[in-house]
Amino acid sequence: MSKIKFFLNESMPLEMHKVRVVQKLNLIPIEDRKKALDEGGYNTFLLRNRDVFLDMLTDSGTNAMSDRQVAAMLAADDAYAGSETFYRLEKVLQFFFGMKFFLPAHQGRACENIISKTFVKPGDIIPMNYHFTTTKAHIELNGGKVEEIFIDEALKVTSDCPFKGDIDINKLHKLIKEVGVERIPFLRIELGTNLIGGQPVSLENIIKVAKICHEHKIMVVTDASLLADNIYFNKEREEFCKNLSLHEIILKIAAATDIMYFSARKLGCARGGGICVRDVELFNKMKELVPLYEGFLTYGGMSVREMEAMAIGLEETLDLELVNQGPQFIAGFGKKLMEQGVPIVTPTGGLGCHLDARRFIPHVKSEEYPAGALAAAIYLVSGIRGMERGTLSETRNPDGSEHPAGVELVRLALPRRVFTMSQISYSVDRIAWLFKNRDLIKGLKFVDEPKVLRFFLGRLAPIDDWATKLMKKFREDFGNSL
Ligand SMILES: *Cc1c(COP(=O)(O)O)cnc(C)c1O
Repeated sequence: MSKIKFFLNESMPLEMHKVRVVQKLNLIPIEDRKKALDEGGYNTFLLRNRDVFLDMLTDSGTNAMSDRQVAAMLAADDAYAGSETFYRLEKVLQFFFGMKFFLPAHQGRACENIISKTFVKPGDIIPMNYHFTTTKAHIELNGGKVEEIFIDEALKVTSDCPFKGDIDINKLHKLIKEVGVERIPFLRIELGTNLIGGQPVSLENIIKVAKICHEHKIMVVTDASLLADNIYFNKEREEFCKNLSLHEIILKIAAATDIMYFSARKLGCARGGGICVRDVELFNKMKELVPLYEGFLTYGGMSVREMEAMAIGLEETLDLELVNQGPQFIAGFGKKLMEQGVPIVTPTGGLGCHLDARRFIPHVKSEEYPAGALAAAIYLVSGIRGMERGTLSETRNPDGSEHPAGVELVRLALPRRVFTMSQISYSVDRIAWLFKNRDLIKGLKFVDEPKVLRFFLGRLAPIDDWATKLMKKFREDFGNSL
C-alpha cells in the first residue's frame, strides 16, 4: 500500500492550513445541556446551535472554506438567467468529471428527486451498495425498491477490509438474473458509503460493476457527495491507483458512470448540488425538472455566491494536502478512542469517527434505539453533538414493527479544517468517561414519531429517566467543571 504521510505520527495529524477567521464557542453546564435535551426530544437534530459546544452532527455545509473560496464569493455574477458564475462552474465541472452537461440543484437530495422522478417507475428495483436515507426515500416515493448488494464485509463493524463500500459482483449477477434488466433502470454506487461509516468503494470494483451493467444496458449512477474521502482512500489503499493522480482517479470513476450527482454541501466545501452527464439525451430527459423544482437552469436554487465557492472548492479537491485532512484527523481520533477501549468502526473511513453503539451499550435493544440513546448521552456529558445512524434512521416494516438497522452507529462528523487536535482530545476524554459509566445509559422511546424520515423531527424520551442519573454521576466525578 502506498502511504501518504502528512502527519507527525498516526495519532497526531498535521494541519495543512492556518486559521484566519474564528467563531467563538459556548460550553454550557451539564444541567443546561440536560434541559436542552428535554426540549429537543433527545434528538440531536432538534438541539439549538447555541447549546452545542462541538458540532459533529454532519459535514454537510459546515466544512471550513478557504480564503480563495471566500474571495471568489465577492466576485459572483448575480443574474436570474445566464450568470457568468454558472458558466464558470459548468466549465470547472466539465474538467473535473470529464462530462459535458451539468444540471444545478439546491442540494444532493434534490438531485435524487430529479433522477428518481425521471427514471424510477413503480415495480422497479434499484441495486446499490448500502443505501442513503434520502436516496431510498426518493426511490420509494416513485414506487421503486432499493436492493442492497454490498459485500458481506460491509456490515462488519470491526474489519480490516479496505473497501467496505464495494458491490458484491455475484449478488449483482444473481439479481439481474432474478429480476430481469427491464425492471432495473439503473444501479447506484455511493462513494464513501455514508451510513456504514464513510467506507470507500474501490476503483477496480466500480469499473467491474459498470462493465456488467453496461453489458446489460443498465445505467450506472454514482453518488459523488463523499468523493473527496473516497479518492483519498483509492490513492492510499488501492494498488491499482498508486500511480494515478487524484484527478485521474475521478476521471476513471466518471468514465465508468452515466450520471454523477453530488451534494455540494459536502463535495466542494460550499452549499448546493448538481447532476453531471455525458449524454445529451439523458440531459434532456432530466432538464425540465430543474426549473420546475429548483430554479432556472443557470442557478438551480443555489445562490451565485455558493456557486463561485463551489467552483474553487472543486478545484481544491484535486489537492492531496486538502483531501487528506478529513481521513487523517478521523484516523487520529479513532486511534485515541480505541486506546481507551471505546468501540468504533474499523478501518476508520471518511466523514467522521463512528462509534459502534451495539458494543458500547449492548444492554440496549435495537427497538430502544441504542445509537440514538448514545448520541444523546454524549451530548449530555460533553456538549458534543453527534448523529444517530441506526434503527431510528430506518423506516418501520409495513406491519408497524421495527426494522433493526444493519449497524447501529453514532457518527461524530469532522467537518474539514474546523476542529483542532485539543478539541479532539477533549472529545476522547469525555467519551472515555462515558464508556466507563455506560451501564447508566438506557434506551429511548418515541413521544412523537413522524411517518417519513422520522429521525429528523421525531421526539423521544429516556427510558427510566437515565439522563438524570447520568448527570448526577457526572457531577460526582467532575465536581464543578462544565
Ligand atoms: C448528504 C448526502 C446526500 C444528500 O445531500 P443533501 O445535500 O444533504 O441533500 C446524498 N448522498 C450522500 C452520500 C450524502 O452523504
